Amino acid sequence: MTIRVGIAGAGISGLTLAGILSRRLPHVHVTVLERAPAARDQGYGLDLDANGQEALARAGVYHRYWDCSQPYSDHMAFFRIGSHGPEPAGVMFRPALLRWLFPATFAARPETNRGALRDILLDEMATRANTGVVFDTAVRDARLHVDGGCELFGDSGKSHGVFDLIIDAMGLHSTLRHHRVVDASGGKAFGGTVHIHGVINSPEAACGAPLLARLRKYGSVAGYGRGYLIFLQRFGAGSNDGRTCCFYQLNHLDSAESLLDEIGVSPPSSRASGIMTDERLDKVKRWVLHDMGEVFDESWRDAIRSLDRVTADDVALPLVCIGDSLLNCGLGGGGILAMQDANELAALLEKEGAFDDAGRPDLSSLRAAEGAMLARKQEFHAEKQQRARGTCAQVAERGRGPTEWPFELDDLGLPGWKLGLARLLLPRVAALTNAWYRWDEWRLGRVGATPSTPIYPSVKKLLDSGEGK
Ligand SMILES: Cc1cc2nc3c(=O)[nH]c(=O)nc-3n(C[C@H](O)[C@H](O)[C@H](O)COP(=O)(O)OP(=O)(O)OC[C@H]3O[C@@H](n4cnc5c(N)ncnc54)[C@H](O)[C@@H]3O)c2cc1C
Repeated sequence: MTIRVGIAGAGISGLTLAGILSRRLPHVHVTVLERAPAARDQGYGLDLDANGQEALARAGVYHRYWDCSQPYSDHMAFFRIGSHGPEPAGVMFRPALLRWLFPATFAARPETNRGALRDILLDEMATRANTGVVFDTAVRDARLHVDGGCELFGDSGKSHGVFDLIIDAMGLHSTLRHHRVVDASGGKAFGGTVHIHGVINSPEAACGAPLLARLRKYGSVAGYGRGYLIFLQRFGAGSNDGRTCCFYQLNHLDSAESLLDEIGVSPPSSRASGIMTDERLDKVKRWVLHDMGEVFDESWRDAIRSLDRVTADDVALPLVCIGDSLLNCGLGGGGILAMQDANELAALLEKEGAFDDAGRPDLSSLRAAEGAMLARKQEFHAEKQQRARGTCAQVAERGRGPTEWPFELDDLGLPGWKLGLARLLLPRVAALTNAWYRWDEWRLGRVGATPSTPIYPSVKKLLDSGEGK
């Protein structure tokens, strides 16, 4: 059976994920839908950390890493703003000795060209029959499909197809994130929605007068409010067939399985066994009546008591957000985090049991991963805001004349004792670093990473084991 995975957005996280899945899960068919044309500008560079480089290995393109990366680009010289001399005041670099001794920290981390990286991922995917990337195709929304999958729609409402799992990798302007994330600043990931639904075979025989009066007059009735939703509808064939279905919606639960666990009913192994008419029916009814508390009047409670069968189903969209669509992290590391999300999600989807026999994804593990990704981004955001406060202090320093350092320590907004310590240590650290830099330069001719520089041990392990390429 082929599992259908749809990825919305052919940016850095979407294409990385597609690259790994297409190589490592041949039974999965991956479709990437991208709003922009194939020739779209991809921005500048990105210095991939261990996660990003592992992702390239797992996507089978690590052997082309240096085709899209800039040699000697992983160090930076700081000059005084007012000085025209050739000598920097300080250099931030990765000493060759430390690279060999501690590659996990000091491995090659050059600037990688985003456009070239994308082309390499696309080239590799084009060699595989299980992946398609469709450009000029915007995704507007997603809806649950009757077969349990998720259908994607374009701008004009045109269907882009039905998928067993959708990954939203549309970045900052995602049109799907509202399905998964509560507020505009990306505060919180939603849980899922579960329906307890069932049938009253003959309301005329089972229900009391108030409920019957409503059903006779309106056919379909709904109760909504205080975080509750209940819905009843006649669906019998002909006027003598009074069969009525009932839906009771729970918006705060992750899965039907966790609900059944709470009720004390074992999860069904098939659709047929999920229709409960035995002692499980009474347990579910008791649970719903308790959940209704004092909020519902007697006619709604009557409907629950009259049910002849019940089923509990997940109605959560099989949709997961990654990258900036989850929370916009942007400049200063958002791309690195997006690659990490893609790498981690792919690793989860590779695990045994990630999809069941019908091709349905194990959403609970994906939800947990999505929550961890969001938490990581929130931490990143908080640090970024902290740095922004330092930037404000720097703005206030403008126009105060030439500086002794390439940046003024006072501008960093450090609290008193930290500023004192920085004043004491920084000149000494800078002198030592500069001397070390010159030594590396004298020995090697030029400082910085090249294809022969030690790589991250985790990447090496993947390559040695044949898992990467
Ligand atoms: C100027 C600049 C410099 C940056 N420099 C760095 C850096 O040096 N290091 C770093 O780590 N990060 C950097 N970032 C941040 C980084 O670019 C983002 O965090 C990263 O691109 C997010 O990746 P993503 O895959 O989540 O989304 P994106 O890369 O934004 O990809 C989203 C994709 O989805 C597509 N899309 C959007 N809407 C739709 C739709 N409705 N239907 C279909 N497709 C759609 C878009 O066209 C795009 O191709 C920089 C950002 C900027 C703006």
